[in-house]
Amino acid sequence: MQISSTPAPQPVDDARLAEILADPGFGTHFTDHMFTVEWTPEKGWHDARITPYGPITLDPATAVLHYAQETFEGMKAYRHEDGSVWTFRPEANAARMAKSSRRLALPELPIEDFVQAVDALVQADERWVPGSEGEKSLYIRPFMFASEKFLGVRPSQHVTFMVIASPAGSYFKGGLKPVTLWLTTEYTRAGKGGMGDAKTGGNYASSLVAQQEAYAQGCDQVVFLDAQEGTYVEELGGMNLYFVFKDGRVVTPATSGTILEGITRASIIELAKGLGHTVEERKFSIDEWRDGVASGDIVEIFACGTAAVVTPVGTLKEAGRETAAPTAETGELTARIREALVDIQFGRAEDTHHWMHKV
Ligand code: PMP
Repeated sequence: MQISSTPAPQPVDDARLAEILADPGFGTHFTDHMFTVEWTPEKGWHDARITPYGPITLDPATAVLHYAQETFEGMKAYRHEDGSVWTFRPEANAARMAKSSRRLALPELPIEDFVQAVDALVQADERWVPGSEGEKSLYIRPFMFASEKFLGVRPSQHVTFMVIASPAGSYFKGGLKPVTLWLTTEYTRAGKGGMGDAKTGGNYASSLVAQQEAYAQGCDQVVFLDAQEGTYVEELGGMNLYFVFKDGRVVTPATSGTILEGITRASIIELAKGLGHTVEERKFSIDEWRDGVASGDIVEIFACGTAAVVTPVGTLKEAGRETAAPTAETGELTARIREALVDIQFGRAEDTHHWMHKV
């Protein structure tokens, strides 16, 4: 892919950038540039460019504003101690976006073009990648949307793919803290044949009322059960789940089309196997959770995703009852897996799985 480049006329100055990177928070500061490429049936992907970051103008009839035909990804760039910058399994994000886009009747961006686009933006805004102290990183948001001006309900004939980036602080400011969970029985996230395994805005829009309910209950995140039977644990609003048993088995709900196939989740399967654990991907009922904690068979529960990497799960709250966390502190395997992943991402451990990609 040929990428043209127009540098920002007024990139952020060093003093302001240092201020932002000292405490970046999440999703509020954006780098100096953005990447854009467009698609039409006649021309395919064309006009790839890096331009100064800024607002885009959309016609009020732009299809995505009406029918939500869009997909996105979330990934990070990490700075290693020698100053080099790396992304974690970017081809996996590219492949997941291609899969999401197929489900949303959007064109597929070839994997190598996705990776090239991300690399080009991170290179252009390299100075925005924070140092690795305190687990800071540059959050990268690739997204694709129906940019045709047309109100008919059909796949858009003009599509735009963009990449923006935003420095991110550690998910855990005051140290690793268990997330408390609210079990929603009123809302589900995805049905059979729906788009639960696609990373598309609609799934997040539909999760917001359930998340609001979780906050109202004093919880951090919401747990969704399967839509068909309301029996099986699926995932959180933005993370996958893992259960560790006393006998060393590690269980995670199977991805059967209704769960987002987390790249952290997939990586943990390999790490846990490497540590000698048996990993089961299968249906996992809410009763097995409650009973396993009560009997002491479940010894650790954790959630995982790009933002937090791995976080211990605390109390599970639901209407009329509570299931306590199996451990008061971060479990041993939870801590071990978290450290293994973070060490690979920040270049402090050998990347034996070849997960890191040098930008
Ligand atoms: N489930 C959902 C619904 C998510 O939004 C995310 C975050 N992308 C995950 C799981 C975890 O995926 P990953 O490990 O690729 O960040």
